[in-house]
Amino acid sequence: VRVTFTPIHRREGGAAGTIAVLQDVTEQENLEQSRREFVANVSHELRTPLTTIRSYTEALDDGALDDPQLASRFVGVIRNETERMIRLVTDLLHLSRFDSREARLRLQPTDVAEMLEDVADRFSFQLRQKRIAISVSVGRGTGTAWLDRDQIDQVLGNLVSNALKYTPEGGTIALEAEINEEGMLAVTVRDSGIGIPKKDIERIFERFYRVDKARSRNMGGTGLGLSIAREIVKAHGGSISLHSELGQGSRVTFTLPPGKPKGDEA
Ligand code: ADP
Repeated sequence: VRVTFTPIHRREGGAAGTIAVLQDVTEQENLEQSRREFVANVSHELRTPLTTIRSYTEALDDGALDDPQLASRFVGVIRNETERMIRLVTDLLHLSRFDSREARLRLQPTDVAEMLEDVADRFSFQLRQKRIAISVSVGRGTGTAWLDRDQIDQVLGNLVSNALKYTPEGGTIALEAEINEEGMLAVTVRDSGIGIPKKDIERIFERFYRVDKARSRNMGGTGLGLSIAREIVKAHGGSISLHSELGQGSRVTFTLPPGKPKGDEA
């Protein structure tokens, strides 16, 4: 609590009293603290690829250019790191649009089964490469839902790409949709992957939070996928949750109000 005292003076001189203002600053301080952490995280995340790019360009300059095979490997690394930085900055811009509430949803009636099949198709190449089987199942009554297709595609893309990243060869991924007891459309992405330790689960939707930073980076992750998914789902009026069993797999479920929004578009 912050306390400020302001003395009140009489016009003819002398003190009439004091006004004390008690202000709860814990929330403000928490916000400030998380803003500081965020800036530190962003700087670090940008610095890491830049440092790599610098050292590989130096190596090219120092003679690696004369060895075509080596040179092409180094250029490959530089390209990968650049791609990751572009992804990171794109994700950050996306998040900042949600933070400043500039993000507008363009809700349209969407065939849920078709949308899930589409996501599965989009990843078919990577799935085949890792010999991961994918299944799509849609419960009765799911039919059409009002949602922002581009944004929900991104949510699904982030979730399936995580399932792919954290599931070893030969595993399985399932996409499921149903109407739950509350009448919400519930979409689940389930995998048979490495799972997440209990202690990490509750922080997993935080920006830049990762169970294993090195692994996530090697997989090209930005640490922002789940936080973006949560913002998009929240903007739709739904919620998102993750269940996981270490070594067994994970399942992420998000819910959306399926009906046409009342009155003006959200
Ligand atoms: P990243 O870009 O690192 O994947 P996310 O925000 O998408 O960032 O996920 C945060 C972290 O949650 C990941 O780094 C990973 O440790 C963990 N994670 C997310 N999805 C899964 C999953 N399906 N299986 C295991 N771990 C996961």
